[in-house]
Amino acid sequence: GQCITHCPVGALRERDDIGLLRDALADPDKITMVQIAPAIRTAWAEGIDISKTEATTGKLVSALRRIGFDYIFDTTYTADLTIMEEGSEFIERFTHKEDYSWPMFTSCCPGWVRFVKTQYPDYVKNLSTAKSPQQMFGAMAKTFIAQKLGIDADKIFSVSIMPCLSKKYEHNVDQVDDAGHGKDVDLVLTTRELDRLIRADNIQPDDLKEESFDPIFGEGSGAGVIFGATGGVMEAALRSAYFLITGENPEPDSFKSVRGMKGWKEATFEIKGLQVRVAVASGLGNTRRLMEAIKKGEVQYDFVEIMACPGGCVGGGGQPVHDGCEYASPRGEILYGLDKFSGLRFSHENTAVQMTYDEFLEKPNSHRAHELLHTDLENWDLEMKL
Ligand code: SF4
Repeated sequence: GQCITHCPVGALRERDDIGLLRDALADPDKITMVQIAPAIRTAWAEGIDISKTEATTGKLVSALRRIGFDYIFDTTYTADLTIMEEGSEFIERFTHKEDYSWPMFTSCCPGWVRFVKTQYPDYVKNLSTAKSPQQMFGAMAKTFIAQKLGIDADKIFSVSIMPCLSKKYEHNVDQVDDAGHGKDVDLVLTTRELDRLIRADNIQPDDLKEESFDPIFGEGSGAGVIFGATGGVMEAALRSAYFLITGENPEPDSFKSVRGMKGWKEATFEIKGLQVRVAVASGLGNTRRLMEAIKKGEVQYDFVEIMACPGGCVGGGGQPVHDGCEYASPRGEILYGLDKFSGLRFSHENTAVQMTYDEFLEKPNSHRAHELLHTDLENWDLEMKL
């Protein structure tokens, strides 16, 4: 099987930031706010003594409350926001085709962003300017969320729990402090660090009950949840792009042919007479093959999703490790199951996202959305600041 210890950023040693979290939790002047990425709910049980069936998202929230976080939210909210920004950006580029280089690439995976900047710098301009859900959450935490909760943005210590080691790099990039209250995200912990915290605090499965994320930013759609699996960003984006172009929802599973563990997938979809050619790749070997084919003109696509880890974030380098086994596929299935049974299948129907635009950002790709939710990847410094 595939080894999941692989980290696409390269040369990353295991590092433990739990001490920094302990300091923040003990500081009476800090308000701790945590976001958890979609992929965490599929794997947190693997490193602790709780069965897969018991390890619900509600019990994960309960564990985070016991650890001591003041506010607990779901990155899925800003995965939905990313879809609104990135989907609108795609439509803008697609309807002014001659003004842009093609294809447009997703940019939510910092392992991929780093790869394209070092290996294919001519294609950096093809990346969506939308920040990743992690960074969007951080920017919203210290602006709109602080405002809605009536708390002082300068006191917020914004933590994310990610399946990923390269997110520890991403949150330290100088360009991502747009909210004006320090870094958008102050600390990134991996799933493995979360499991170590749960074990260190001696939190037992019997101590955990079903608890909800904090209102009003705890809501995410099934489209946002599948962000954690290869093809999920593309599928979520197409569901909302279809709505933005036609004014109607597609059948939610219309774009499911981009699912699955195949390293390089492609499909063409028709939306209101427009042919949209898409490709999805995961793993950097597949990515290099796809990039070479694009460069040589052997393939033509409009929209391409790349995830550096095989299978996407569910197979990320920060997830629990099982020697010689590949866990991305069954974890991805968990996300597709959550999406299937979610009452909310479209990012544009997330009421927290709608409220965010109505009360704060105005509309996708507005001036304020650009200031807070987009970034200039050309300027990203590649120095590793871990
Ligand atoms: Fe991180 Fe996900 Fe990219 Fe892997 S695929 S490097 S886990 S963002």
